[in-house]
Amino acid sequence: MSLRLKLTFLYSGVLALTMLVFGLLVYFFMEHNLTAEADRSVAGIAEDVVRSTVIVGRFPAPLRQVVIPDVDVFANPNTYIQVVDRSGVVAARSDNLGGQVIPLSEETLREVAKGKGFYETVMSGSQSLRVYNRPLLVDGQVVGVLQVARTMGPAEMALKRLRILLFLGGAVALFLTSTLGWLLAGAALRPIGRITETASAIQQGRDLTRRISYSGPKDEVGRLAGTLNQMLERLHDAYRNLEDAEAAQRRFVSDASHELRTPLTTIKGNVELLKKMGDADPETRNEALNDIAGEVERMSRLVSDLLVLARADASLKLKKEAVALAPLLAEAARRGSVLAGGLTFSAGDFSALGEAEVLGDKDYLMQLLLILIENAVRYTPPGGEVRLEAQAEGDCVEISIIDNGIGIAEKDLPHIFERFYRADKVRFSSGSGLGLAIARWIVEEHGGTIIVKSKEGEGSTFTVHLPLRIL
Ligand code: ADP
Repeated sequence: MSLRLKLTFLYSGVLALTMLVFGLLVYFFMEHNLTAEADRSVAGIAEDVVRSTVIVGRFPAPLRQVVIPDVDVFANPNTYIQVVDRSGVVAARSDNLGGQVIPLSEETLREVAKGKGFYETVMSGSQSLRVYNRPLLVDGQVVGVLQVARTMGPAEMALKRLRILLFLGGAVALFLTSTLGWLLAGAALRPIGRITETASAIQQGRDLTRRISYSGPKDEVGRLAGTLNQMLERLHDAYRNLEDAEAAQRRFVSDASHELRTPLTTIKGNVELLKKMGDADPETRNEALNDIAGEVERMSRLVSDLLVLARADASLKLKKEAVALAPLLAEAARRGSVLAGGLTFSAGDFSALGEAEVLGDKDYLMQLLLILIENAVRYTPPGGEVRLEAQAEGDCVEISIIDNGIGIAEKDLPHIFERFYRADKVRFSSGSGLGLAIARWIVEEHGGTIIVKSKEGEGSTFTVHLPLRIL
């Protein structure tokens, strides 16, 4: 059942109940009033008759000695009077009764004999009468009954009209208010209907750029529309991020396969050459084997780099422990000088760092330093210089790898931390374009930052800040 129908039923139900209670109250109040009014009137007339009654003779006197006034004086078209003696014989009655008698049951006689008047509603023929039965007393003895009756016809007619009025009025009011309720519920729920339509259109068309257009007041419905729009905004953002991430992932996979294919092609070529040549030319064979070894080496580096990044993507949490900086940097400097080849490699004085420690993963921190040192060495021509420096800066350690190599063009600077990004002019050299992406991930995992300053042709400085472990 629709909400609109439910609301309409609810309104109408409540209204019908209210009207029923109200109608019954009005009806019974009217009925009670009319009866009370009839009672007052018959009792009044009865008292008038009694006042005009004269008693002649002495106790114990039979009723015949009670002189009853002319009851017709007291009667009127709707009021009848009858006097009955103790034995039930009619002693006097008003002319307007015609051939009729006011019914007097044994029970009524018994009741009156107790000396008290009482009211009753009796049927005489087809008309109902309100009767006041008043005992006639002579010296405290009941000698007869004075009955004053009033026809209830007009009162019953009035009640009948009231019943019809209440019933018809109620039905019309119920019909009108139900219709109005139906229309009002429709009007109140229409914006919700529109919201539902838009939402389902968005859902069907998968168009997250659409919004619910609602120009009404900021009431409950307005707030609902606003909240839904905010939710759509968030959903749209999340979806966009997901799409970006998916695109990046696709790019990554295709770059990775491409990078893996290149060494495989070289290996394949060399293997075929070796198969064709056999042992004929030992020099060429050695060259081919060296090529293969070099490519295998490159591939295994690439695969281990990819593994690190895959772990990064899987939100791998590093196992952190206190790592003393001075020995770590000294070891990196030692390895750097081995890598340096024809370059001058120098390191600062790490003893100033004293016992300073960072909370981190020693192996990954070493990998970070080696990536930066290897890059500096790789992109600095023979005769150049590479320097590793470190000093404490407040609650951080600042590590710099400085070279006076080829530098990085301005257009490349924003991209060098992206996966597989390599500047055009370094394509000749070995390298996969993954080093700095890994370096950035390691730094971020340690809560630090990495920045680069570089000028093409003059050299580059990579600076890493890592938070120191507070002792
Ligand atoms: P790669 O394996 O190519 O070195 P990286 O991610 O380590 O990959 O570096 C990305 C790119 O940043 C490099 O291809 C190079 O163009 C540039 N780059 C990184 N370090 C240096 C440096 N010290 N001097 C000049 N260029 C650098």
